[in-house]
Amino acid sequence: MLSSGGYLLRTAFAGALLVGGFAVVSCAGDSDKAGANANGKVTVVYEDNTIKPKDKQAVAVVRKSRVFEQAADWVNKSVALPHDLDVKVTGKVPPGVTDAVTQPDGRTIYVPPPFLTQIQGILSDVVKTVKRPALFPEAEFNADDLTALSTQFIFGHEMGHALQRQLLLPNLGLEEDAADGFASFYTVNEVGPGPSLAAAILFDELARDEGKLTLEGLSSDHPVTQQRVFNFLCYLEGSDPKRFYEPLVGAGYLPKTRAPLCPQAWAMLDYGWWTQLRPHFSEAFKDQGDKTQENARDHLIAEMKAFEKELDKLRRGQ
Ligand SMILES: [Zn+2]
Repeated sequence: MLSSGGYLLRTAFAGALLVGGFAVVSCAGDSDKAGANANGKVTVVYEDNTIKPKDKQAVAVVRKSRVFEQAADWVNKSVALPHDLDVKVTGKVPPGVTDAVTQPDGRTIYVPPPFLTQIQGILSDVVKTVKRPALFPEAEFNADDLTALSTQFIFGHEMGHALQRQLLLPNLGLEEDAADGFASFYTVNEVGPGPSLAAAILFDELARDEGKLTLEGLSSDHPVTQQRVFNFLCYLEGSDPKRFYEPLVGAGYLPKTRAPLCPQAWAMLDYGWWTQLRPHFSEAFKDQGDKTQENARDHLIAEMKAFEKELDKLRRGQ
């Protein structure tokens, strides 16, 4: 049953953003370190002597891109963490870990090198078999750049878990949705469209490999894979419909039925994360962060009003 390489790959990958979701054990009792006394730092370590030769190439691609360090820098600049967060690219992972995972206390993120090799392998096939979306730059439509960009998004997801767990953020939905949301929030605001697009391309391929929905997929604490593709695209489109409507909705990547909801969905996500993080801003970031949160609130109110105006028309068109 496990003879097919494709099955193994898919199984390993399907666990990717899943394992972290099981362990929602919070670190209650540590919240006394919140706020001004919090001086935890994010550090990224590549444990070279644990990385197997077959994984060195994919690790080198990600290392050169500095996507982990960029996210670490942003968190270090903006957020006062109660504890250090160690990001370890290492072959020495806890038993059973095959994918990027965040430990239950939010203080360690493991990135196993074979996981990066898997991503690169899948994307090597994608560039040969999938037509490049016009929105995605031709110069970056290669396995290495797609690997770095999609890893940036996936790492945003893990960073979302780490923040939720260290800061004991109150969730109103599933933690996995919030983690995907942070990946969109962070990359769309701080990087641009590349990571969302690359992640959509990667997850679309994974969904194709998974094939028919199974009970396991439907009962996961993650949205089903194809749904995540549309969520990534919806937030991106909603962040700037003037720029992204034509290339994403007009070109048929994001259905017209979903698109009208996306500007408000993005505004809610953006306001939500700025509001969640606000009590935890670093001293240095506080003024800028407070202003950004207030702007996000104004933007959400404007989007809600705009949506209300369109609603009758949208319902009539259904
Ligand atoms: Zn997760």
